[in-house]
Amino acid sequence: MDTRAIIDLITETSSATQEQLVTILGSSEDEYLFERANEIRKQYFGNEVHLRGIIEFSNYCRCGCLYCGLQVQNNSVERYRMEPDEIIENARQAYEVGYRSLVLQSGEDPYYTADMISYIVKEIKKIGDIAITLSAGEREYSEYAQWIKDGADRYLLKHETADEKIYDRLHPHSSFNTRLQCLQWLKELGYQTGSGFMIGLPGQTLETIAKDILLLKELDIEMAGIGPFIPHPSTELRDAQTGSSLLTLKAVALTRILLKRPHLPTTTALEVSTGTNAFNAGANVIMRKIEPHKYRRLYDIYPKPLKNEKSLLEERHEVETYIESFGRYVSDTRGDAVEHKA
Ligand code: SF4
Repeated sequence: MDTRAIIDLITETSSATQEQLVTILGSSEDEYLFERANEIRKQYFGNEVHLRGIIEFSNYCRCGCLYCGLQVQNNSVERYRMEPDEIIENARQAYEVGYRSLVLQSGEDPYYTADMISYIVKEIKKIGDIAITLSAGEREYSEYAQWIKDGADRYLLKHETADEKIYDRLHPHSSFNTRLQCLQWLKELGYQTGSGFMIGLPGQTLETIAKDILLLKELDIEMAGIGPFIPHPSTELRDAQTGSSLLTLKAVALTRILLKRPHLPTTTALEVSTGTNAFNAGANVIMRKIEPHKYRRLYDIYPKPLKNEKSLLEERHEVETYIESFGRYVSDTRGDAVEHKA
């Protein structure tokens, strides 16, 4: 079967083998793949783009991910924490300029107890109809259960790589099995669950990327962030190669044709590494940092240039204009998960 026929088959059946995915990842039929992914994106979301405001509220982290500039071993980072009321005020300002979907993200920082996160979630929910995605790493089942009861809607926990050996090497503080367990708990508890992975991690092959996509399918995730690995100069992986943007786009497109309904962001890592976006490869979401400018430069998972300081409203207008420049528009809804189609 030629590559186009495989792409059509996956599109029609919403199923694929590892071998079929590897064939497509390794082929040069990019344009056809992007075309099909874009059609499905349009079928599910029209020309709407979901804009999510991300509040990176703490860059303290107890973990030692080998690729990350915020790893606990990095003593050169100036650390910060936003207090709960500062986070709530930040959310209020974002709501006032039109954000209806907020992501609260931090390193794994035990300073924030389960009750503190609950307080933040409950107070933000009093502001208005805002969807809250938490992204605070691996926590106890009881904590995840408490937060969804208190109003959290979504949880983002990328699996990063579906290769257990690579995962365990890159994450000495945890294990692939623990990560999977957390993802399963989140699904079971009823969160709209997000995962995702990096393209270009040392040791990764096309087979690994195929496994990554199949894992998203198996978990039946509602959101997936797929971005290139970008080496950080303060980490052990400083001399590794940046991940391929073309392969990233192909992985996004394959995820779209196989899983259909998930929200797929065009990741900041892709924008930073190539100045391009994944909107023509099936993506329908964009995220923008919205925490106070004094913290943004310190949330340094991978190196990225900083933009001029503008108000939240000016930044919102800027991203709206950017999205409109290619014929799409920013949704005014919360951007909840799309149900499976019969
Ligand atoms: S990737 Fe996340 S969990 Fe890992 S060190 Fe960085 S901030 Fe911490």
